Amino acid sequence: MTEQILKTPIEYLKGIGSQRAEILKKDLEIFTYDDLLNYYPFRYIDRTRFYKIRELSPDLPSVQILGRIISKEVLGEKHTKRLVARFKDDTGSIELVWFQSIRWIDKIIQPGSVFIAFGKPVIFNGHFSISHPELEPYQPNIENKGNLTLQPVYSSTEKLKQFNLDSKGIQRALAVLIDQVIRQIKETLPEYLLKSHKLISLQKALYNIHFPENSQILKDAEIRLKFDELFFIQLKLLRTKLLRTQKFKGAVFNNVGDNFNTFYSEKLPFKLTDAQKRVIKEIRQDTQRGVQMNRLLQGDVGSGKTVVALMIMLLAIDNGYQACIMAPTEILAQQHYLSIKSLLGDDFINLEILTGSTLKKARVSLHQRLENGELDILVGTHALIEDVVKFKNLGLVVIDEQHRFGVEQRAKLWRKNVIPPHVLVMTATPIPRTLAMTLYGDLDVSIINELPAGRKPIKTVHLFHSQRLRMFGFMREEIAKGRQIYIVYPLIKESEKLDLLYLEAGIESINDEFPMPEYQISIVHGKLAAKDKASEMQRFVKGETQIMVATTVIEVGVNVPNASVMIIENAERFGLSQLHQLRGRVGRGAEQSFCILMSGNKLSSDARTRLETMVRTIDGFEIAEIDLQLRGPGNIEGTRQSGVLDLKLADLSIDQKLLAEARETVIKVLEDDPELKNESNLLLRQYFEQKSAGISWDKIS
Ligand code: ADP
Ligand code: MG
Repeated sequence: MTEQILKTPIEYLKGIGSQRAEILKKDLEIFTYDDLLNYYPFRYIDRTRFYKIRELSPDLPSVQILGRIISKEVLGEKHTKRLVARFKDDTGSIELVWFQSIRWIDKIIQPGSVFIAFGKPVIFNGHFSISHPELEPYQPNIENKGNLTLQPVYSSTEKLKQFNLDSKGIQRALAVLIDQVIRQIKETLPEYLLKSHKLISLQKALYNIHFPENSQILKDAEIRLKFDELFFIQLKLLRTKLLRTQKFKGAVFNNVGDNFNTFYSEKLPFKLTDAQKRVIKEIRQDTQRGVQMNRLLQGDVGSGKTVVALMIMLLAIDNGYQACIMAPTEILAQQHYLSIKSLLGDDFINLEILTGSTLKKARVSLHQRLENGELDILVGTHALIEDVVKFKNLGLVVIDEQHRFGVEQRAKLWRKNVIPPHVLVMTATPIPRTLAMTLYGDLDVSIINELPAGRKPIKTVHLFHSQRLRMFGFMREEIAKGRQIYIVYPLIKESEKLDLLYLEAGIESINDEFPMPEYQISIVHGKLAAKDKASEMQRFVKGETQIMVATTVIEVGVNVPNASVMIIENAERFGLSQLHQLRGRVGRGAEQSFCILMSGNKLSSDARTRLETMVRTIDGFEIAEIDLQLRGPGNIEGTRQSGVLDLKLADLSIDQKLLAEARETVIKVLEDDPELKNESNLLLRQYFEQKSAGISWDKIS
């Protein structure tokens, strides 16, 4: 096979050898020719033109300037020591600054000599400067064509630099490599797709990502390679989904029976929203097809996911199956248990709860009743997954707050029945579309995009610490109206000690402002024993306390409809999705609810954007999009360990359109040719079979 050459160990490349190869492996995970070929530049220096000093702006990337050194001096002492040179062209002058290699540079730059300086211009003390510019003596007689292009910049390491493999060195290695291999690189996409999507060939793309002849072809190369990346991830996801539906039968819930009907007509205390109805319909259709359902239910906090899950569980029971619902913490499991119990009323459905703290005796009897089919619904934590927990006929698994459960755990639940149970994953962390398509691309998605009628949107304000008296006054007013209040403090590992001090100081001032016996306060934080935590929570839930001071332990799920004010201290330190989650703790009753974001005066621009976003909107999906823009896909809640997001070129916060295009293309390809049997799809089948050998795709879903 012609591609064999790409598997050649990197040490055989001319100019590399075994010593450099070792470091390449260790530092950059470059083992083979192929790895190096796929090691792309992280940016390009525009060498196609010289910039004039007058044209400089801080928005520019690295640029090249042609000018003359007019003076230089060494300033500062020890670690502030630096070499500063004044550099001038016919439109103005800037400073060039070096903090390292001062002696060496000092020798090279002599006043009067002409250089080409490359680097990123920044404004410092009101003037433009470039620190550590690359310098090249200007030689007007030599027309050096090689320089007049976009020059790639590769990231390298200290160690590699010592062995001449800095960015330029890597480029040299690639120059050797590309000549040897470029004509042997096989196309991965069928001709008809290249044509219909106006993509350049893989050969041309790989060549130009490393040695772009101009910015247009570079753009084409990037698009081609990004499309490739996204296309094959989608192909994998959607084929997995297709195979699963072919392979796994699913329980058929075609009977809408007494349980569902009785609940709907006699027990349901409110009217379902249109969105809830639509989602129930989507799920019902899905559970009648005889194939296993894997569905993600997204809905903002308070949108009423629990009742939807409950009604589907009743449907399962109507069709002779059991159902379970799993929550990530004991408190949440308790809360689900209680709210489901109160929705169902007595003597209607056999419901039990199983958590780590369920006593042995209760556990044994529970196991029995589960196995002989007496129990209809089991609510619980991870404890549900254990092998000793056996169902008679499990037909539906509901998982709340998805991202805390791994795929392995999900798979374990599947195995609890001969026919794998339907899986409904619920998440209150709205996920931007691009992430959902990639992370959960093999799941079907239902969205509840509407809050129950009569809810008043939460009003959010941002106050500075200096406006604290206003905050206290407002708290007193709300408490006088009979409302309850949360005050949340950040507790972040890196600065835990300081945070605890803030928390303590906060508690003290709240105690002073709201003295007993008129006011009662619950205090909950991670350092508390589980038992005390639970009892403090309970006091608040029962309305015995008016204020709950807490660290972020209350973030997930807690439901106290009478709590109408959420105060977040040091709000600038929370991420957007966390702020949104916290705010979602209020606004659950009929009363007007409020969220007060407290912060210091000094805010980074990201922090300001976060707080402004919170004040402006309560739409979780909009907030999630902004979060993605601010932090990038790798830092979004629940995506961190996910291998799928290690994309080389594509960026899910930027390439939304391309991703949608790739996914639609895959859907169409698989519609026409599910087995990829057509001659025209031969490449897809081959590539797919090769690639799937080495990649751990189960990280994906
Ligand atoms: P989440 O989607 O955050 O899990 P829940 O299911 O906990 O939301 O619902 C929040 C609250 O709204 C609960 O008290 C629930 O009983 C109530 N609720 C759910 N659906 C409706 C509805 N259609 N009309 C009125 N209240 C509803
Ligand atoms: Mg919930």
